[in-house]
Amino acid sequence: MTEQLTHFIDGKRVPGTSGNFQDVFNPATGEAHTQVPLASSDEVKAAIASAQAAFPAWSGLAPAKRVAVLFKFRELLYAHADEISELVSKEHGKTLPDAKGELMRGIEVVEFACGIPSALKGEFSDSVATNVDTHSIRQPLGVVAGITPFNFPTMVPMWMFPVALAAGNTFILKPSERDPSSTLRLVELLHEAGLPKGVMNLINGGKEAVDELLSNPVVKAISFVGSTQVGEYIYSEGCKHGKRVQALCGAKNHMVVMPDADLDKAVDALMGAAYGSAGERCMAISVAVAVGDKTADALIEKLTPKIQALKVGPYTDAETEMGPVVTKESKDRIEGYIQSGVDQGAKLVVDGRGLNLQGYENGFFVGGTLFDDVTTDMDIYTDEIFGPVLAVVRTQEYETALQMVNDHEYGNGTAIFTQDGDAARDFTTRVQAGMVGVNVPIPVPVAYHSFGGWKRSLFGDHDIHGMEGVRFYTKLKAITTRWPSGIKDGAQFHFKAGKEDH
Ligand code: NAD
Repeated sequence: MTEQLTHFIDGKRVPGTSGNFQDVFNPATGEAHTQVPLASSDEVKAAIASAQAAFPAWSGLAPAKRVAVLFKFRELLYAHADEISELVSKEHGKTLPDAKGELMRGIEVVEFACGIPSALKGEFSDSVATNVDTHSIRQPLGVVAGITPFNFPTMVPMWMFPVALAAGNTFILKPSERDPSSTLRLVELLHEAGLPKGVMNLINGGKEAVDELLSNPVVKAISFVGSTQVGEYIYSEGCKHGKRVQALCGAKNHMVVMPDADLDKAVDALMGAAYGSAGERCMAISVAVAVGDKTADALIEKLTPKIQALKVGPYTDAETEMGPVVTKESKDRIEGYIQSGVDQGAKLVVDGRGLNLQGYENGFFVGGTLFDDVTTDMDIYTDEIFGPVLAVVRTQEYETALQMVNDHEYGNGTAIFTQDGDAARDFTTRVQAGMVGVNVPIPVPVAYHSFGGWKRSLFGDHDIHGMEGVRFYTKLKAITTRWPSGIKDGAQFHFKAGKEDH
């Protein structure tokens, strides 16, 4: 076992002192290779104090000086891309190209944040009344925190901190305790890029650490990405303590396949969107709604051999298309759902259970799984499984397919595959989801747009990154100025409109 991981507080790695540690596994081998410390509330308080002390100087810098650090950070991310991707793959299980892909998506947010001077531009109104002008500015909130999930240990933290830091906030990051090494490395590189101590702190931990962030009055805002169950708690506790909160949560993303769709393209799209990263993506497609039995039959026929041929293996094998799931508990949960699908009457076309990979017998592998004849009352339809399981639901009409998407409790992403512009336009207009693809299976917006779901996939008023991210991490201030400053008429006791003489 390599040495224990640390926190990163006040500009340096700090060993855990709580006495609580958790094993970090390589999911391909099932072996623990290190341990992560779980912070006590006192350790979190130390990080908060460091961020609070750093705030006046950092927020007082010109934005152009703040982003000079991010420009350097971007270069370091490129220089260390292979090393960081390997850390991701080793603890998450995803393939190296996929790990690098998420890092690149994170770098795009850094690039957006490098343009913050433009995004922070306020508005100015000349002469709102005689000799009176009004302008608005956006100012940072103070100390803000991010709590992130295991499935994108580099990209999701970078949805948050580049924008928050560029806007002048100081930050405390609480990454997932399941795969924390790559995230810790990002924070180290930020400091190599010249970030002053205390501006960015990382604490590892679980509920105790999170609860300190939620209740501590110094923390002004919380960004959370993770499951709906935890996100709902974070949102209500954070709001109760007067914080601004955005909680991006779980999903059950449907792809509607119309009878006129190019089925080969739809099948390729489904393979990547359902089984890429072993289905552990909040934008994974886990339900294919086939419109018409002919469409459904053709989909099943084309999908089946491809799923059976999926190369499942460790990230160290360059041929691997799909890695293991993150923990033994995830594997057990996913296999439990597969059994429930069988018990509740769905047709199991490809069963991913019982996969035995030579040399990796203790790895957390689940093969690609396909169900046909799934109905909307089954657990495999209602719940987020977060594994490589695709459910095909049959319907005879477009309207019922649309209704199905809209009736689901989650509304993160969705897609329609069709060659009919009318259907595509109707779908994008009427569907109840935050991110919609037309012949695009995983419509994750680029960094200068914003990411966020609807319904129980997001709690809060702001999406993440892009201009929504800038709004989330800043407060608006409107300033009204009179020059020359003399008031002619003595005290004024009533409101005046601009058109009156001032
Ligand atoms: P999770 O909810 O278990 O954990 C997320 C974070 O919350 C982690 O940092 C974890 O340590 C912390 N946490 C866990 N239990 C807690 C508790 N009881 N109290 C306080 N904090 C707690 O999520 P996960 O399993 O790491 O990630 C998978 C989930 O994240 C899926 O539901 C997925 O859909 C979702 N996700 C959503 C998005 C999105 O943008 N909507 C993106 C990625 C992942």
